[in-house]
Amino acid sequence: MSEKPKLAMYWASSCGGCEIVTLGIGENLLLVDEVFDLAFFPCIADFKVADVKGYPDGYIDVCLFNGAIRNSENEEMAKLLRQKSKILVAFGSCAYEGCIPALSNLTSREATLRTVFLESPTVDNPEGVLPQPRHQVEEGVLELPYFYHTVRSLDQVVDVDYYIPGCPPEPHQIWAVLQVVVAALTEGAPLPPKGSVVGAGDVAVCEECPLEKHEKTVARFYRPYQVRPEPGLCLLEQGIVCMGPSTRSGCGARCPQVGMGCRGCYGPLPGVEDQGARSLTALASVLDVAGKPGDDEQELEQQVEQAVATIVDPAGTFYRFSMAHSLLRRAKTNGAQKEVVS
Ligand code: SF4
Ligand code: SF4
Ligand code: SF4
Repeated sequence: MSEKPKLAMYWASSCGGCEIVTLGIGENLLLVDEVFDLAFFPCIADFKVADVKGYPDGYIDVCLFNGAIRNSENEEMAKLLRQKSKILVAFGSCAYEGCIPALSNLTSREATLRTVFLESPTVDNPEGVLPQPRHQVEEGVLELPYFYHTVRSLDQVVDVDYYIPGCPPEPHQIWAVLQVVVAALTEGAPLPPKGSVVGAGDVAVCEECPLEKHEKTVARFYRPYQVRPEPGLCLLEQGIVCMGPSTRSGCGARCPQVGMGCRGCYGPLPGVEDQGARSLTALASVLDVAGKPGDDEQELEQQVEQAVATIVDPAGTFYRFSMAHSLLRRAKTNGAQKEVVS
C-alpha cells in the first residue's frame, strides 16, 4: 500500500461549484497527485461509502468537506468523515456558514417541500406525493435521507479543524492551503492553530478593492440593474449594496471590480460574530440622514425607513451566505418542530 498522505473531498448539500473550482487549480493538480493518494472523491473517482467505512479511524490525512448539512445523509457522512480524518476542513461557504442552502432557514421544512413538490409552476403532481424517508414496495423498503427543518454548518454537527471561506473559494487560495498541508505532512512544517480560517485575508474586502472611496452619503439603495455605476468609484457610495466593509478579504475584490457589490461570500471579518448585523452598520454609515440637535426625530426615523425600504430582501441580502452561522440562525416559523430522524 502507498505511503503517500491520503486526501478526500466530499460534497454534502452543495452545488458542485467547490469541486469544480478545486479542479481549477490547473496543472497544480498533477502536484497534488504526486503528493497525495485519493482516499475518497466521489466527484471525480468511483469511491463508495463502504470504502470509507472500511478505513481505520484517522486513515485520511486531510478531508475537504464542502456543502451544508441539509439532511440525515449529510450528517451521517460528516460524522463518518470526521471519524476517518486527521484534519477535517470546512471547505467553502456552505460547510463554513450554511450559504445558499441555509436561506431556507427563513422558512419551514414543510413550506420548502410544499413549494418544491406541489406548488412550483413546472410540477405535475396531482396526487400531492411528497418524499418519505421510508416507503414500502413489493421488493422491500426504499429509504431516502430525512430532510431536516434547519440547515446547519459543518461545525454545528462535528468538530472542524480549519475553515476555507468563499462561494466558491478562489483556486489560488485552495492551492496555497494545500501547499501548507503538504509542507506539514511531508516536512513537519507547523500548521495554523486549530479553528483558523485559512485561504483568506484578515482584513475587509474594501482593503483590496481598487475603487475609490470619498465619504459620500446616499439617500437610497439600488439593485445592480437599476443603476449604471460610475467607473472607478466605490459602489456603496453610489447606493449599490456592497458588503465589502464587513467581509473577509481573499478574493481580490472580484465582484466590485466588475460593478457588482460584494455579497459577502468570504464570511465575516475576524472577531465578528454576525456578518449581517455588521453589514447593516456599514450601510448605516453611508446613509444621508444626519440629525442635528433640534431635528424632528420622527422625521429622521421616516427618512431611515424610506432608505432601508429600498433594500429588497434584507435577510437574503445580508445573510445570503451566513444564515446558519448567524445569531439569527433561523426564522421562527409555524412549522418549527424538533428534528426527528425517522
Ligand atoms: S460554497 Fe458556493 S460553490 Fe461551494 S458548494 Fe456551496 S454554493 Fe456551491
Ligand atoms: S465598492 Fe465595496 S468593497 Fe469596494 S470600496 Fe466600496 S464598499 Fe468597499
Ligand atoms: S467580492 Fe465578495 S461576494 Fe465577490 S467573491 Fe469576493 S467576497 Fe465573494
